[in-house]
Amino acid sequence: MAEKIKHYQMYINGKFVDAVSGETMTAVCPADGKVIATFPKGGAQDVDKAVKAAKKLFENSLWGKDHASQDRGDLLRNIAIGIREKMDELVETEVLDSGKTITDVSLVDVHYAADCFEYYANLANQIYGEVIPVPGDVMDIAVREPLGVCAAIAAWNYPIMFAAWKIAPCLAAGNTILYKPSSETSLSALALAKIIEAAGAPAGAVNIVTGPGSDIGSAICHHEDIAKISFTGSTKVGKKVMQMASSTMKKVTMELGGKSPNIIFDDITNLDAVVGAALMGIYFNAGQTCIAGSRVYVHENIYEEFKKELVRRVGLIRVGHGMDWESRVGAIINESQLRAVLDLIETGKQEGAGLLIGGNRLTDGDLAKGFFIAPTVFECDHDDYTIVKKEIFGPVLCLMKFSEEEEVIRRANDTKYGLASAVWTNNIKRAFRVARGLKAGQVWINQYLILSNFAPHGGYKQSGFGKDLSKYALDHYTQIKNIYVELCDDDAYISTFE
Ligand code: NAD
Repeated sequence: MAEKIKHYQMYINGKFVDAVSGETMTAVCPADGKVIATFPKGGAQDVDKAVKAAKKLFENSLWGKDHASQDRGDLLRNIAIGIREKMDELVETEVLDSGKTITDVSLVDVHYAADCFEYYANLANQIYGEVIPVPGDVMDIAVREPLGVCAAIAAWNYPIMFAAWKIAPCLAAGNTILYKPSSETSLSALALAKIIEAAGAPAGAVNIVTGPGSDIGSAICHHEDIAKISFTGSTKVGKKVMQMASSTMKKVTMELGGKSPNIIFDDITNLDAVVGAALMGIYFNAGQTCIAGSRVYVHENIYEEFKKELVRRVGLIRVGHGMDWESRVGAIINESQLRAVLDLIETGKQEGAGLLIGGNRLTDGDLAKGFFIAPTVFECDHDDYTIVKKEIFGPVLCLMKFSEEEEVIRRANDTKYGLASAVWTNNIKRAFRVARGLKAGQVWINQYLILSNFAPHGGYKQSGFGKDLSKYALDHYTQIKNIYVELCDDDAYISTFE
């Protein structure tokens, strides 16, 4: 008997519903091509329903007022607890929907999502204003107020983490939200909606609408009653979203693409460990990470040794189905992304970059059912190759040699992106000089890829603006009102018109 496919529903106004149109989409596992679920193909009418519910709660209740700051914190804390209770179910849903490995999803993604809700639970009653020393007989106060109905549009590569990154600070600050996950990976957000409901969220506080970005995205961007959009995705779509959002003067924050440099000097003490970090930096999530360390610059004195060890270890990486605990690199999200990565690999070969290992689709045995690419390393003798310039968003590392500090900073910065970067050295002065010289929103010193809920994440240049995570994210979910209080008595008031 054929297995019954699970159907997920959207979450609007505290209810689980299908799209107004009744249309659905299918979720396919990128690792084996199996249809794992169906979910609603929402559109403009569903967006409007969600916005009405979010607006009603915001305008007709104490939800966004200081009165409710403790309640909002409690709700976020309950969501964190709910995620931890449903850990196994969420992990499996995410692995099957995204092609990621169970090791990564269970050790990183779902834990971070729960921790993120908990972090903002603790900040909900800590959003302070300021008293400003305006001269005169005056008390001047800047207060932070919520924006109202916010929307978030997210990429497919860290689905449950992005839901947490957007929903938690937005609610902590007293807003209501319409969250649109990527239609490639919508299931974990819909599973999270069940947890949010069970945690006691009032109807309208969180609304999750699923469907194609072009339809829903455009409806969100043009909606009069949405005050802000937090976008995570490609630089190309981010520009479109900014343009559309300008029609109603929405606030926007943009978490966009990257082509991040990972710089390794010759005074490192443990080459094996740094090779390990470079592997993690690029191959985590099969290279489908905005902060992937895709350009690795190695000092000429250790270049050959580093290259040899890197290639040896890339050859040992186990690629496979995400549900296999032995897999270290999972599937590429879909066929079109697989083609895009393979095309760029082909361009690299044609332009003359030196392919050291990988460079092909993997089709042995069951791998043929999914979208797998061998971890790939190109040796690049200059930085003008297309593969060094373009974000590939796949398991492709470009290895380059450098000689001088100034030279490597200049080359690292020679990109339209500025999301992340790293420098490895035991020379503290050099570490800080390079860190300050790199034009990127994130610099790791002797580390790669680690993000903390406590610390800001976001780009420079065409990698975007605004921050996710940390207390800084709250700035983007609040607006500042100035309250000027005249302290002198009415009869002492002097008007210049008399
Ligand atoms: P994408 O830009 O194709 O899609 C992102 C989101 O936008 C999806 O939800 C999609 O449905 C929606 N969308 C698509 N067309 C739209 C439109 N016309 N109007 C409004 N919304 C629309 O990106 P992706 O392929 O999902 O993700 C990969 C990209 O995201 C990479 O470039 C990666 O670097 C970037 N990314 C950045 C960060 C970060 O924090 N800076 C994190 C993850 C991914």
